Amino acid sequence: MGGTDTARSQSSGELASSGSPGGAKRAPKVLLGWKELKCLLDARGYEQGGFLLKNEDGAIVGVLPVPSRLNSPERYAMDPKEYRRLRRTRKDIAGVIHTHPSGDPEPSEDDRRLTKLFPVREGEYRAVWHPRSGRLTFFDQTGDVWVGYIRRPLWFRLIAPLFYE
Ligand SMILES: [Zn+2]
Repeated sequence: MGGTDTARSQSSGELASSGSPGGAKRAPKVLLGWKELKCLLDARGYEQGGFLLKNEDGAIVGVLPVPSRLNSPERYAMDPKEYRRLRRTRKDIAGVIHTHPSGDPEPSEDDRRLTKLFPVREGEYRAVWHPRSGRLTFFDQTGDVWVGYIRRPLWFRLIAPLFYE
Protein backbone atom coordinates (compact mmCIF):
# COMPACT_ATOMS: atom_id res chain seq x y z
CA MET A 1 0.00 0.00 0.00
CA GLY A 2 2.92 2.31 0.78
CA GLY A 3 2.17 5.99 0.80
CA THR A 4 -0.73 5.81 -1.62
CA ASP A 5 -3.26 6.64 1.05
CA THR A 6 -1.53 9.70 2.41
CA ALA A 7 -3.16 13.05 2.00
CA ARG A 8 -3.14 14.82 -1.32
CA SER A 9 -2.93 18.54 -0.94
CA GLN A 10 -5.09 20.44 -3.36
CA SER A 11 -4.13 23.98 -2.76
CA SER A 12 -1.32 24.15 -0.24
CA GLY A 13 1.01 25.75 -2.76
CA GLU A 14 -1.30 28.66 -3.28
CA LEU A 15 -2.04 28.99 0.41
CA ALA A 16 1.59 28.67 1.38
CA SER A 17 2.72 31.44 -0.93
CA SER A 18 0.34 34.11 0.28
CA GLY A 19 2.11 36.57 2.48
CA SER A 20 -0.12 38.51 4.84
CA PRO A 21 0.64 41.48 7.10
CA GLY A 22 -0.37 39.40 10.11
CA GLY A 23 2.50 37.04 9.50
CA ALA A 24 3.29 34.63 6.69
CA LYS A 25 1.05 31.61 6.51
CA ARG A 26 2.94 28.50 7.26
CA ALA A 27 1.97 25.38 5.36
CA PRO A 28 2.75 22.19 7.25
CA LYS A 29 4.07 19.06 5.62
CA VAL A 30 1.19 16.65 6.20
CA LEU A 31 1.88 12.91 6.12
CA LEU A 32 -1.45 11.72 7.47
CA GLY A 33 -3.61 9.04 5.91
CA TRP A 34 -6.52 6.85 6.84
CA LYS A 35 -4.27 4.70 9.05
CA GLU A 36 -3.41 7.68 11.26
CA LEU A 37 -6.84 9.33 11.29
CA LYS A 38 -9.21 6.39 11.76
CA CYS A 39 -8.61 6.49 15.53
CA LEU A 40 -10.80 9.62 15.54
CA LEU A 41 -13.88 7.88 14.15
CA ASP A 42 -16.82 7.43 16.50
CA ALA A 43 -19.55 4.92 15.69
CA ARG A 44 -22.06 7.06 17.62
CA GLY A 45 -21.33 10.00 15.37
CA TYR A 46 -19.80 12.08 18.17
CA GLU A 47 -17.02 14.57 17.60
CA GLN A 48 -13.63 13.28 18.65
CA GLY A 49 -10.17 14.76 18.64
CA GLY A 50 -6.71 14.82 20.07
CA PHE A 51 -3.21 16.10 19.44
CA LEU A 52 -1.36 16.35 16.15
CA LEU A 53 2.07 14.73 16.32
CA LYS A 54 5.18 15.69 14.39
CA ASN A 55 8.42 13.94 13.55
CA GLU A 56 11.93 15.36 13.96
CA ASP A 57 11.63 17.29 10.72
CA GLY A 58 8.43 18.97 11.85
CA ALA A 59 6.18 17.00 9.44
CA ILE A 60 2.76 16.06 10.77
CA VAL A 61 2.89 12.29 11.00
CA GLY A 62 0.40 11.16 13.60
CA VAL A 63 -2.60 11.72 15.83
CA LEU A 64 -2.83 11.05 19.55
CA PRO A 65 -6.53 10.57 20.24
CA VAL A 66 -7.94 12.03 23.46
CA PRO A 67 -11.58 11.00 23.91
CA SER A 68 -14.04 13.86 24.16
CA ARG A 69 -15.49 14.52 27.59
CA LEU A 70 -18.71 15.48 25.83
CA ASN A 71 -21.03 13.09 24.05
CA SER A 72 -21.89 15.45 21.25
CA PRO A 73 -22.06 15.34 17.46
CA GLU A 74 -21.28 19.07 17.38
CA ARG A 75 -18.70 19.74 20.07
CA TYR A 76 -15.40 18.28 21.13
CA ALA A 77 -13.73 19.02 24.45
CA MET A 78 -10.56 17.54 25.86
CA ASP A 79 -10.29 16.94 29.58
CA PRO A 80 -8.17 19.89 30.81
CA LYS A 81 -6.09 17.67 33.12
CA GLU A 82 -5.30 15.32 30.27
CA TYR A 83 -4.48 18.31 28.06
CA ARG A 84 -1.96 19.65 30.58
CA ARG A 85 -0.50 16.22 31.30
CA LEU A 86 0.15 15.45 27.65
CA ARG A 87 1.49 18.96 26.99
CA ARG A 88 3.96 18.37 29.80
CA THR A 89 5.06 14.88 28.83
CA ARG A 90 5.01 14.83 25.01
CA LYS A 91 7.67 16.60 23.02
CA ASP A 92 6.14 15.80 19.61
CA ILE A 93 2.90 17.76 19.83
CA ALA A 94 2.18 19.94 16.79
CA GLY A 95 -1.30 21.17 17.63
CA VAL A 96 -4.81 19.85 18.04
CA ILE A 97 -7.33 18.19 15.75
CA HIS A 98 -11.04 17.42 15.96
CA THR A 99 -13.57 15.80 13.66
CA HIS A 100 -16.75 17.09 12.09
CA PRO A 101 -18.84 13.93 11.84
CA SER A 102 -21.81 15.94 10.59
CA GLY A 103 -22.38 19.33 9.11
CA ASP A 104 -19.75 21.57 7.60
CA PRO A 105 -16.54 19.91 6.34
CA GLU A 106 -14.66 23.14 7.06
CA PRO A 107 -13.71 24.67 10.41
CA SER A 108 -16.80 26.30 11.92
CA GLU A 109 -17.21 29.95 12.83
CA ASP A 110 -16.66 28.92 16.44
CA ASP A 111 -13.46 27.06 15.52
CA ARG A 112 -12.10 30.15 13.81
CA ARG A 113 -13.24 32.53 16.55
CA LEU A 114 -11.63 30.40 19.26
CA THR A 115 -8.41 30.20 17.27
CA LYS A 116 -8.30 34.00 17.10
CA LEU A 117 -8.97 34.23 20.84
CA PHE A 118 -6.38 31.55 21.60
CA PRO A 119 -3.80 31.66 18.80
CA VAL A 120 -1.82 28.51 18.13
CA ARG A 121 1.75 28.33 19.38
CA GLU A 122 4.66 28.89 17.04
CA GLY A 123 5.02 25.89 14.75
CA GLU A 124 1.64 24.46 15.73
CA TYR A 125 -1.70 24.12 13.95
CA ARG A 126 -5.34 23.35 14.42
CA ALA A 127 -6.96 20.81 12.16
CA VAL A 128 -10.48 19.67 11.32
CA TRP A 129 -11.18 16.34 9.63
CA HIS A 130 -14.52 15.59 7.96
CA PRO A 131 -14.53 11.80 7.52
CA ARG A 132 -17.54 11.77 5.24
CA SER A 133 -15.82 13.80 2.51
CA GLY A 134 -12.24 13.16 3.60
CA ARG A 135 -11.51 16.88 3.78
CA LEU A 136 -8.68 17.72 6.17
CA THR A 137 -8.08 21.39 6.95
CA PHE A 138 -5.12 22.85 8.81
CA PHE A 139 -5.62 26.39 10.00
CA ASP A 140 -4.36 28.95 12.45
CA GLN A 141 -5.39 32.44 13.50
CA THR A 142 -4.52 33.73 10.00
CA GLY A 143 -6.85 31.27 8.23
CA ASP A 144 -6.40 28.01 6.34
CA VAL A 145 -2.79 26.99 5.77
CA TRP A 146 -3.30 23.54 4.20
CA VAL A 147 -6.28 21.69 2.74
CA GLY A 148 -6.26 18.13 1.46
CA TYR A 149 -8.47 15.08 1.07
CA ILE A 150 -7.80 11.79 2.84
CA ARG A 151 -8.53 8.66 0.84
CA ARG A 152 -10.96 6.40 2.66
CA PRO A 153 -11.45 2.66 2.11
CA LEU A 154 -14.44 1.53 0.11
CA TRP A 155 -16.20 -0.05 3.09
CA PHE A 156 -16.14 3.28 4.90
CA ARG A 157 -17.45 5.21 1.92
CA LEU A 158 -20.33 2.70 1.78
CA ILE A 159 -21.31 2.86 5.45
CA ALA A 160 -20.46 6.49 6.15
CA PRO A 161 -23.85 7.81 4.97
CA LEU A 162 -25.50 5.64 7.64
CA PHE A 163 -23.53 7.23 10.46
CA TYR A 164 -22.61 10.65 9.23
CA GLU A 165 -24.59 13.42 7.65
ZN1 LIG B 1 -15.18 22.25 14.71
